[in-house]
Amino acid sequence: MSFDYDLFVIGGGSGGVRAARIAASEYGARVALAEESRMGGTCVIRGCVPKKLMIFAASAPAAVAEARGYGWQGAGVGEFDWGAFRATLDVELNRLEAIYTGGLDRAGVTIHHQRARLADHHTVELADGSRFTAKHILIAVGGRPSLPGIPGQELGLISDDLFLLDSLPRRALLVGGGFIACEFATILAGLGSQTTLAYRGDAVLRGFDRELREMAGEQIAALGIDLRLNSNPSRLDRNADGSIRVSYQDGGTQDVDAVFFATGRAPYTGDLGLGNTGVHLRPNGAIEVDEWSQTAVPSIFAVGDVTDRVNLTPVAIREGHSFADTVFGARPRKVSHDPVASAVYLRPHEIGTIGLTEEQARDRGPVDVYAGKFRPMQSMFAGSDARALMKLLVDPRDDKVLGCHILAPNAGEMIQLAAIPITMGATKAQFDAAMAVHPTLAEELVTMRSPARRWPAEE
Ligand code: NDP
Repeated sequence: MSFDYDLFVIGGGSGGVRAARIAASEYGARVALAEESRMGGTCVIRGCVPKKLMIFAASAPAAVAEARGYGWQGAGVGEFDWGAFRATLDVELNRLEAIYTGGLDRAGVTIHHQRARLADHHTVELADGSRFTAKHILIAVGGRPSLPGIPGQELGLISDDLFLLDSLPRRALLVGGGFIACEFATILAGLGSQTTLAYRGDAVLRGFDRELREMAGEQIAALGIDLRLNSNPSRLDRNADGSIRVSYQDGGTQDVDAVFFATGRAPYTGDLGLGNTGVHLRPNGAIEVDEWSQTAVPSIFAVGDVTDRVNLTPVAIREGHSFADTVFGARPRKVSHDPVASAVYLRPHEIGTIGLTEEQARDRGPVDVYAGKFRPMQSMFAGSDARALMKLLVDPRDDKVLGCHILAPNAGEMIQLAAIPITMGATKAQFDAAMAVHPTLAEELVTMRSPARRWPAEE
């Protein structure tokens, strides 16, 4: 049977673009890609990239304040001009989108700027009714924010909206305690909004190391964010002056100018025509795939957040690349989803983390906890009390490093490098064999001589 294409990719985000480009440029496949929105997907257009640029913007006042501690005199940072920032941001995102599109064009990929759905296991139907057959179909449509289902939630915004605001809200509420809620609260507070973070649990960032979570919460509160733990909105109402009245489950109320829901994301599998194919979905709507990213239908594959494995950009990219190598390059490559390092871009200290948390390590067996909490010299000199955490979890039976958790300036950069030995299975002795670089924060990772505590505790 002959097909219009060797590969049809649905979704122009991180995973889909990588797969399409590698299949076409490295392996000569005839490839088409459909994207209903902007090329680059969530990460580039309405996620990681604009978010990190906003973190830089939000960090400026603290940097100026710190400069004063170092003897710099004179006027402060001035006023933040959201319009000027947004204009520059738009230019940058257009540039990045053009790079994504250009890469596909040069690889010879045919781009359809339309929504696509599956008509059967070899056929894709576009919004304009045109149909194309392909030997292989890759679904890389990502996820979409999910809302909590409370009355009045249509008055709230989602993370996508933050980058499109005409002006910054004077009073903002973030709902949720995950990556997005914590990062966005940090950004909005840094840019001058009076910010509340309401989270239903007792410490933000569930799933992270408990000690790290508690220190992150302290840092969020120290930024002047009104951190409300064990607190969850039950409804939203519009006030006569246009503001929003938030009613909480405990009976309290609060008036704000904007509510952002950061209550998780769900796979974007609705109306994708999957019922026409026999592809299996998990109860949360994620596409079920095997270790080769192949669905129950041999011609259909899926990568990235739509499969709900590890929902991070670099994971989607690697899954897309491995798919192309495997299917078109005759170079079978699986993706290891454990361990995967990640970062949460808080201020002044970021989180960088990989491997088991202390709680998970204890559940697994004995663990030596090497941990240092200290005030970094740069900010301490300027009068800041912000504390950093460097933590290594070690299995005393074989000396293997099981996890590393950092709360410190540039922890995202540090954890990327720590991820190399930890992924290789390094021991604590091998960490210690590396000579320290002095004076740095990261030298702590190779100089912690004795455990701060052991599990089980010694008599
Ligand atoms: P997360 O899953 O990280 O967090 C969702 C939060 O919403 C949790 O605190 C959760 O609470 C809470 N929540 C869920 N449902 C409700 C509800 N009905 N009512 C109240 N609270 C609720 O999702 P995010 O939206 O923060 O981020 C989505 C994804 O984006 C993440 O999976 C992450 O991988 C990715 N991301 C990564 C970033 C990075 O790498 N730096 C940055 C931003 C996003 P509970 O914990 O109690 O379940």
